[in-house]
Amino acid sequence: MWQCPKCKREFTRKNQRHACGTGDRDDVIRDRPQSVVEVYRAIEEFTSKLGKVETVARDRYVLFRSSRIFVDLSIMKDVVRVAVHIGRTVDNPIFIKIVDDGKQVTHVAKIANLRELKKLEPYIKEAYEFSVSEQSSS
Ligand SMILES: [Zn+2]
Repeated sequence: MWQCPKCKREFTRKNQRHACGTGDRDDVIRDRPQSVVEVYRAIEEFTSKLGKVETVARDRYVLFRSSRIFVDLSIMKDVVRVAVHIGRTVDNPIFIKIVDDGKQVTHVAKIANLRELKKLEPYIKEAYEFSVSEQSSS
């Protein structure tokens, strides 16, 4: 692992380009509807239990990474748009968009409440496990 001398964040590649620091997560949910705040907080809590996870916030975007990014999300008007990066294509109606870049398959879902988030949680877990597995390291 390489550690940035300025912000102390760790990366697998030396001199990995990044914006220093991890941002302010409170900014992301400021003045948002209660349902959105609830979903966001639940995602944060769920990912924090998976293992060593870093959360990086910029404006209305948040990403979650182990040694690499496994989930990223953006806060929209009344939903949280979540992208999970896993090693296979999943056929599930919660996903509105699926993109296979050859190394990982990105599944996008718009989550409006905790009931919908429950359906997504197994894939968030799978994304974390994929991110720390051998097959995902390049
Ligand atoms: Zn840095």
